[in-house]
Amino acid sequence: MSNPQYTELLGLTIQQLTEIAEDLGQPAYRARQLLDGLYRQRWSALEQFTMLPLAFRQRLGESGYSVGLPSIEKKFVSADGTIRYLLGFADGQSVETVWMPDGDGGEAGDGSEDGDAELREQAFSHQHSALSPETRNLKLETSPWRRATICVSSQVGCAVECAFCMTALLGLKRNLSAGEIVGQILAVLNDQQVELQRDRVNLVFMGQGEPFLNYDNFMQAVRLLVEAVGIPESRMTVSTSGIVPRIAAFGAEPVRPKLAVSLNAPNEALRTEIMPITKKWTIEKLMAALREFPLRNRERLTFEYVLLGGVNDGVQHAREMVDLIRGLRAKVNLIALNSGPEIPFATPSDERVLAFQSVLTRAGIPAFVRRPRGRDIYAACGQLKHTTELVQVT
Ligand code: SAH
Ligand code: SF4
Repeated sequence: MSNPQYTELLGLTIQQLTEIAEDLGQPAYRARQLLDGLYRQRWSALEQFTMLPLAFRQRLGESGYSVGLPSIEKKFVSADGTIRYLLGFADGQSVETVWMPDGDGGEAGDGSEDGDAELREQAFSHQHSALSPETRNLKLETSPWRRATICVSSQVGCAVECAFCMTALLGLKRNLSAGEIVGQILAVLNDQQVELQRDRVNLVFMGQGEPFLNYDNFMQAVRLLVEAVGIPESRMTVSTSGIVPRIAAFGAEPVRPKLAVSLNAPNEALRTEIMPITKKWTIEKLMAALREFPLRNRERLTFEYVLLGGVNDGVQHAREMVDLIRGLRAKVNLIALNSGPEIPFATPSDERVLAFQSVLTRAGIPAFVRRPRGRDIYAACGQLKHTTELVQVT
């Protein structure tokens, strides 16, 4: 095949890999080997696929196929351990992907939803394994068990013009392919030497871009991550600014992450001011879609609410929030604005954040204040915008 339909193997399904193997005169089981090498072994070059016959590897190369793993262009390390990666793709575009080690109980820092309970369970099973005390200590020392969250981008830039977000300033450059979405995760897992059988990794699709405006590629990436990479869907959360028709489609997916919605304001007028997309998809339509959303057993919706000093952070806004989301099985993540150049808003005081939170919790709505991660390296929510000039490169 001199003119391959795909050039990058990463992002392809078992069916697509089977077609390629068969086109090149190989038995179908070669596709399984390709799948394993791409997604489980996380290899970055065809030369590493040594279980494949050399002639097949060469044919793949000659036919224009490559693995397609993004390259790490830059790495910024925060004082709190967060790492912001600048990952580059074949066409020279790049996105940011953030590694947040040691979740803090899940509710506060990283946007993922799992909490201390599960952490304790894991620690407990380590301690009470059938190993002798000596072996147990050895095991814990040689393979420290880790927990981390990766924040993944879905587009280069973003077309949704939220007034408080630095990614919005980039505009939309292009969608990412499914392989580029999966590739971000694989590149970071490789760099961090993560073993998925040992380490616990959560994914939040909350990086650059609006995942529901790149829906098909995003969902293809999710399926590959679950089925081929082996990360359970229960450890994934996607955040949307409220692309209403996609919410229903997403609810009908057999395999899907948990849903978070960036609400950020409790009424049409205020939300339209800070999120102009509200003109197209009103709060009323958004809430109607969310009331219809088929939550699974024990699943909750998450509302994200960026607090902008003096704009949407008053107790009266909190009371409006209570009225708006009453009756939904939901929790609220409060994020004090992460400031940045050209962002015309202020970060509210801790007192105002806590006052807002307590209105919600007193009304019986679980509300958490998200701890900012990596603010010093512009890795926190809303700060992803290729800010190489603002921090020192490590
Ligand atoms: N586009 C999607 C997902 C990425 S944004 C969405 O908007 O939901 C991830 C989260 O960061 C959103 O909840 C958004 O409201 C929040 N955010 C954006 N800019 C921010 C800022 N400057 N400070 C704090 N949070 C911000
Ligand atoms: Fe896009 Fe989300 Fe930023 Fe809004 S908050 S501009 S939707 S990335």
